[in-house]
Amino acid sequence: MKFKLFPKDEKFFALFRYAFLISGLALLPWLSASPGGGGPRGFWTPQDPPKARYVIDAHIDAANGNLEGKGIIIFRNAARSSIDTVAVNWSTGPASSLSVSVSGEPLAPLNQDNAATLPSPLFYRLPEALRAGRTIKLEIAFKTQVAFPPAKAPHTSSSFFPSLNWDGLTVHDSYSVKLDIPPGLTVAATGRLDPKTGRYEAPAARSFGVFLGKGMKKESREVEGVLITTVATEKGARAAAICLETADDVIRFARAWLGFYPFSYLTIIPGGDGRWGGYPVATGMVAIHGQETYKDGESPLWWKWITAHEIGHQYWGEWVLDADDPAWLWIAMGITLDTEYLTRRGIDPERRAKWMGNYLNGVRSGYDMTVDIPPAQVEKIPYDHNNTVIHSKCPSIVFALDSLLGRPAFEKIYKRCLTEHGGRGLGWRDFERVCERETGQSLAWFFDQWVRSNAYLFYKIAATDSRPESPGFRSFVTVRRLGTMRMPIPVKALFEDGSEEIKVTERGLDTNVLVFISKARLKEAVLDPEKKLAMLDEPVPPN
Ligand SMILES: [Zn+2]
Repeated sequence: MKFKLFPKDEKFFALFRYAFLISGLALLPWLSASPGGGGPRGFWTPQDPPKARYVIDAHIDAANGNLEGKGIIIFRNAARSSIDTVAVNWSTGPASSLSVSVSGEPLAPLNQDNAATLPSPLFYRLPEALRAGRTIKLEIAFKTQVAFPPAKAPHTSSSFFPSLNWDGLTVHDSYSVKLDIPPGLTVAATGRLDPKTGRYEAPAARSFGVFLGKGMKKESREVEGVLITTVATEKGARAAAICLETADDVIRFARAWLGFYPFSYLTIIPGGDGRWGGYPVATGMVAIHGQETYKDGESPLWWKWITAHEIGHQYWGEWVLDADDPAWLWIAMGITLDTEYLTRRGIDPERRAKWMGNYLNGVRSGYDMTVDIPPAQVEKIPYDHNNTVIHSKCPSIVFALDSLLGRPAFEKIYKRCLTEHGGRGLGWRDFERVCERETGQSLAWFFDQWVRSNAYLFYKIAATDSRPESPGFRSFVTVRRLGTMRMPIPVKALFEDGSEEIKVTERGLDTNVLVFISKARLKEAVLDPEKKLAMLDEPVPPN
């Protein structure tokens, strides 16, 4: 994700050299073409990285284990300043090569420190600076050695061919890829295969995935414009069949709820051996682990859950891109989708509580689970940060927002992010802005507590009282704050005649006395009746 740019002196040298070459009047048009000022400034990334078009023809020579290909990468400089250097994700060495040309003129990589092996990314200075608004076509030819044919494990890749690198930022590119694969291998790839041209076409994708396997079974189904495909081994086929069935239902559900599905294809491929979950390999391609562990007669719940979860990542992560590092919003928003599906369909009514469980265990263990911390600090965390914070506290933040703002406002925000940020990054600060614009209220107090602190929620009903008062009853519910976080807490009062009423506490008060007027006596009061708040029910044991 992160790599080192030019050392400072090299950038300086370039500036110095060009200042020398270009003098007096000649400098003026150059300056106007490059409002950033000065001559070539080395590699830089536009605020919105260019979307590129990849037209690639790749060939696998299974006998020699070679992958080779050629193609073009086209992009337009939509930024205000000229681009004179590009970075390409590819490394070269004894078994791997890359040639990049412009109009037939080959470019030499700038990375010359150790020419025998050059690590990714490779930097190329363009023969002519690409002015604002201009388009360039890079011709590439590449070769690498991969373990072909996949003897036992299949081959899964999201970096099958060279791609542009814009400081690791993601964008939606367009792809047209032909894969010349030896017979006997099952192939799956991002996009839809055009039977006339034999090319995989993906008009807007974050990355292009390729799967190659031996002895695989492939099943496909078209669902409301989405081609769902599963690829599985003989042994994993029964789990894959549940995944296919579920994907069909989740896509129908999500389309009905959100109004669209972001891609016209979804391929589910086998992942690792154990039941570890799954992961998005590339756009429209998800891996689900442990399909071969399926046991006859087992509950389909695990497979339904993981399939719904991975589809959530297609909306969040592949369609709306995440702008943060560590990135968490895409996971939290994706989890919101699978939770919505599993609870509304009645498949797993406890799903929301299950997602919040690891976080609450972390609170009980006294962990510092502040979300917004730099990557270097994440590396030092001794507990399972991915499961405790990213996959548990972070969805809890979105669930809490749902509770706070109410369903109609929350749904509007959820959909607004999907329509406004398709193909663009959405970091948690951007998300906060969207929430504030939608509701017209400052939500800094909410995000500060949940994202930038380790505060936790713990409220308790301290007392209830119900007194006859003509013509019915007046009831009091006293709610006390025992945790370190302040939130308005919905409280549901249930009365003896079956009627009920919900009131919300004032977040600034440590003790709230809610008053209910009813026909019948108060039977019970319940905090957070929707169960959307990750809240303790007992004090944290002292450490
Ligand atoms: Zn996930």
